[in-house]
Amino acid sequence: MTTPRIEFDLTPSANPLPAAEREAVLANPGFGRRFTDHMVTIRWTEAKGWHDAQLTPYAPLEIDPANMTLHYAQSIFEGLKAYRQPDGSVAVFRPDANARRFQRSARRLAMPELPVETFVEACDLLVNQDKEWVPGVGEESLYLRPFMFAAEVGLGVRPANEYLFMVIASPAGPYFPGGVKPLSVWLSEEYVRAAPGGTGEAKCAGNYAASLMAQAQAAAHGCDQVVWLDAIEHRWVEEMGGMNLYFVYGSGADAKVVTPELTGTLLPGITRESLLSIASDLGYRTGEVRISTEEWREGNADGSITEVFACGTAAVITPVGSVKSNGANWTVGDGQPGEITMRLREKMLAIQSGQAEDVHGWMHRLG
Ligand SMILES: *Cc1c(COP(=O)(O)O)cnc(C)c1O
Repeated sequence: MTTPRIEFDLTPSANPLPAAEREAVLANPGFGRRFTDHMVTIRWTEAKGWHDAQLTPYAPLEIDPANMTLHYAQSIFEGLKAYRQPDGSVAVFRPDANARRFQRSARRLAMPELPVETFVEACDLLVNQDKEWVPGVGEESLYLRPFMFAAEVGLGVRPANEYLFMVIASPAGPYFPGGVKPLSVWLSEEYVRAAPGGTGEAKCAGNYAASLMAQAQAAAHGCDQVVWLDAIEHRWVEEMGGMNLYFVYGSGADAKVVTPELTGTLLPGITRESLLSIASDLGYRTGEVRISTEEWREGNADGSITEVFACGTAAVITPVGSVKSNGANWTVGDGQPGEITMRLREKMLAIQSGQAEDVHGWMHRLG
């Protein structure tokens, strides 16, 4: 039996931001600072399931001080982007993949699973309504932030019996307005992001709260980002901040492009998964491996590891230029963005902006 399609109530804003002001925001959007004119909300209760789906003007929520999310963090999110296409239309990159991951995150946090088609429809509805907010060029995009949290009031510790799913959207400029700049990273041997059996695979708010101290420590060591190691041996490389990592062995057509395997403590990035396909489309060998900090250091010292980069929806691909830990300090390659890193980056952006053929059917076109 198929579930009946949920009906959305539409209440467009009576006073959207005037075009001139919107254009001023789009000229310098930054990241996650300004939001479009509308938002989507869908409620879930034990008695009614998913109901009360609405598109309304973007507005603050009223929250009871005893809202369960504020106390026990039953809260998950997603991040995906809508891109302007050469013909002026708009397409979203792999929303179905985000929808499925959102279901897995929900399951892990004992929350109800939103049907994939409802998640995609909610995103489509918001992008369509606010399509003037999708920037016009290349690397710029409209960042979509679907999220869900417990909406029940009470201090008893148990899964809530009421949730609110929402989608908001924020225009995003190029991650590197001044050109791609390699990052310096700090290997965190003191803090861990995720342990076996924990919530590392889920995109939940609490993971980010727990990461902030390590990020501050990285900054205190003069580094841009923290690299997470496994929780048990503090030796196996997992992720960088909120992004997955890639290592390039060798160069030219013989290069091998590898990423740490999904052990249950890594967040399964959609950019990560897409890049395994893109790298192999470009003729590189690929792999999902375990890589230790010693192998990384020695590989850079003997030249077998030529490039390292991080990847995720927000920054697409970011080269890693140097590494620091307690007692070690090294440069990746010559410290500059690598050739294969940049080739993968360009290919990914070309697919997203509609400049390259979408051979995998990743672009979800609207309208
Ligand atoms: C969201 C996220 C990523 C990247 O996932 P994408 O789907 O590629 O955006 C990687 N690591 C963590 C911890 C994340 O939260």
